[in-house]
Amino acid sequence: MVLEKPGEPLRVTDVPVPEPGAEEVRIRVHACAVCRTDLHVVDGELKDPKLPLIIGHQIVGTVEKTGERADRFAVGDRVGVPWLGWTDGTCRYCLEGRENLCDAARFTGYQIDGGYAEYAVADQRFCFPIPEGYPDLQAAPLLCGGLIGYRSLRMTGDAERLGLYGFGSSAHMIAQAAVHQGRRVFAFTRTGDEEAQEFARTLGAGWAGGSDESPPEELDAAIIFAPVGALVPVALRAVAKGGVVVCAGIHMSDIPSFPYEILWGERVLRSVANLTRKDGEEFLALAPKVPIRTTVQTFPLEEANEALDALRGGRIGGSAVLTVA
Ligand SMILES: [Zn+2]
Ligand SMILES: [Zn+2]
Repeated sequence: MVLEKPGEPLRVTDVPVPEPGAEEVRIRVHACAVCRTDLHVVDGELKDPKLPLIIGHQIVGTVEKTGERADRFAVGDRVGVPWLGWTDGTCRYCLEGRENLCDAARFTGYQIDGGYAEYAVADQRFCFPIPEGYPDLQAAPLLCGGLIGYRSLRMTGDAERLGLYGFGSSAHMIAQAAVHQGRRVFAFTRTGDEEAQEFARTLGAGWAGGSDESPPEELDAAIIFAPVGALVPVALRAVAKGGVVVCAGIHMSDIPSFPYEILWGERVLRSVANLTRKDGEEFLALAPKVPIRTTVQTFPLEEANEALDALRGGRIGGSAVLTVA
């Protein structure tokens, strides 16, 4: 499913089977989960994608061929490919263990062809082994929604009362991890989306309501998964003094101006960008211990445009996953 021009639908296209470079593996794709970032690429909100482009950065498949210096995985191994596809390893961010901020990073399904396809090649250093016990479809959403949600959760420190704004793919996984860690979860959904609120309660949220509602008590931290800048002052008003509001998405509409008093009291507003491989290793070790159960809605690969539209329209409960026959 190829993106030729942002703003246009993906097209079913025959492309050559990719050959792995020296440190790459070729993966027979079994499943690729759909991320909101995919929408931002297709809609042209993320600038200068590789074109034409195969999007998709939550890939699960089996290694089919290895490059001449790629010995980390064997043919037949089941691997996952996340958003972070390559870093230089030499810039100050990489050297400080902050490769998520690498100046020269390249991302899967953005600067590198991704997983909305039957085959993908990936740098072996950025692939993860998939935990046993997670079937392909259930594993795919862990690779971005879960992983970057986990990085966001870590940024909330030891917050006990945690607000999640936007109860989609990330939040439905991170709510489970948060409850496992002994936190109390407050879920904020689109106004009037009672189905999503009920879903949140079944995953352990102690309270669920619309994002226009105030929680029944102050929060210690909030994570904003919805790409809606207007939620920033809403969340700041909901957190207690010293609390943190984490913006987890790669793109957000403009944040309206707000009075300083809602930031005062040492409240912190921050973003989370990308992932490090360490985040991935930690999260994929944690997921089976919780255990995080992913609720997936599947679409065949050739219905990728329908899956993207359903995500855009808020019609996905849990995570959308493309299945590749
Ligand atoms: Zn770097
Ligand atoms: Zn993503």
